[in-house]
Amino acid sequence: MSKIIKQKERGSLIVVSGPSGSGKGTIIQEFLKKHKEAWLSVSYTSRIPRTNDVPGETYNFLTREEFEEKIKNGDLLEYAEYSGAYYGTPREHIEDKLVKGTDVILEIDVQGALKVKELVPETICIFILPPSMKELKKRLVGRGTDSKEKILSRFKTAYQEINQITSYNYVVTNDDLEDAVNKIGAIILSEKCRVDRIEQVYLGNEEEEIHELLMDEAFVNEDIKL
Ligand code: 5GP
Repeated sequence: MSKIIKQKERGSLIVVSGPSGSGKGTIIQEFLKKHKEAWLSVSYTSRIPRTNDVPGETYNFLTREEFEEKIKNGDLLEYAEYSGAYYGTPREHIEDKLVKGTDVILEIDVQGALKVKELVPETICIFILPPSMKELKKRLVGRGTDSKEKILSRFKTAYQEINQITSYNYVVTNDDLEDAVNKIGAIILSEKCRVDRIEQVYLGNEEEEIHELLMDEAFVNEDIKL
């Protein structure tokens, strides 16, 4: 049976931001376990690796000089300085993945999100909030991986970031991991059903269809109910 509409097969570009300690990384990892069709872009950074970082998986680590070389060569879709280090999204692979219908996730900060939205206006921007500022403080301190200065800087940045929340399309509060992951899935799914993703409509001629229906023997014999 032929379908009435053909929708865009292109994957969605999804930006996920949220203060450091909001739990966005964990939400994305859980989401990816359930959604093998999605792909997370691995960023470049000049920050020092933490003990739980896996080079090539959490980030590709570069020196500041190497990072600046990438900027000069136009290798980055966007980049920003955050808490004294560079972070950037490699341009490579993103377009290929989108064309093949793969959903691409960028876990980037607010500055990067705004740049990507400007470049690709249909980007779905999702902001992850911690349950409360008190809980955020607890998580940042409890992580035990950063210096006091770094924790303070990240906590201050969190306030500035949350003030930018209205630039995003969706907000998810991370007070329950499973619930947050399901909400991300629901947002991406509902975006796929948007009417502006319809590329073509194949709707037959109404009169011809009705004529055919009237000619149908079963219909004439009242064997089918409308
Ligand atoms: P962290 O040092 O905690 O891993 O990351 C610090 C911040 O940098 C987070 O808000 C994270 O989302 C952001 N970030 C990670 N990769 C990128 C990137 O490629 N571009 C931008 N603009 N921000 C990034």
